Amino acid sequence: MRKLLIAGNWKMHMLNHEAVGLARQLKVKLLGAHRVDVLVCPPFTALTAVAEILSDSDLHLGAQNLHDMRCGAYTGEVSGEMIRSAGGSWVLIGHSERRQLFGDSDAWTNRKLHAALEAGLRPVLCVGETLAERQAGRLDAVLARQLEAGLAGLSPAAAGTLTLAYEPVWAIGTGVVATPAQAQEAHAVVRRIVGGLLGSEVAASRQILYGGSVKPDNARQLLEQPDIDGALVGGASLKADEFSAIVLAGEGVVK
Ligand code: PEP
Repeated sequence: MRKLLIAGNWKMHMLNHEAVGLARQLKVKLLGAHRVDVLVCPPFTALTAVAEILSDSDLHLGAQNLHDMRCGAYTGEVSGEMIRSAGGSWVLIGHSERRQLFGDSDAWTNRKLHAALEAGLRPVLCVGETLAERQAGRLDAVLARQLEAGLAGLSPAAAGTLTLAYEPVWAIGTGVVATPAQAQEAHAVVRRIVGGLLGSEVAASRQILYGGSVKPDNARQLLEQPDIDGALVGGASLKADEFSAIVLAGEGVVK
């Protein structure tokens, strides 16, 4: 059985005092939520402050990106070890905004995945197609390319802390959510491809999160799908009420 994971990607939002306030509210609102794992990913600048707030809670903390090198002359970049030392234990990798806006290629995404594992971070590898790719019937091919390249060099044994996120680019921040059937179909494709790459045991045990305009009113139908093991939430993770409602929707889903 795979436990659900609800993750919040705060993107480039939240000054430190706002991040601390949101973390405090979530800690209180989610006190009784034990059936679902919860992860929040603030900006780097707020990691330490949020880590302190969450230190006596079950909520997990992660970053939104990392550099693949451990240290060096890489002005403006942050390594996995730095994330660890700031209190983070998870990291998002290959988010479509990184791929589209900051040039994160499949190959670089793969190097980041290995760097995350070497630093002892739990990676959440994000994949997903654009609208044009979907309309051209290339969903499976795009997911296969991203997963084959993204997971290159990973052994089944090293995949024990891997989480995947299927995030159709056309649904991120647009308010257009994939239908539960569309999301389930894509998740089944992701699981099949991961099975081909890392074996059926790994594929069956890894959580695959859905991301793309998840809100309190659509979360439950998505989370009820057999291959959807949680959500990666952007906009709605910035409001304690909305994010908690999504977590509680997950609590109500028995798999
Ligand atoms: C995301 O940033 O990963 C995301 C899914 O954003 P939103 O929920 O706002 O679509």
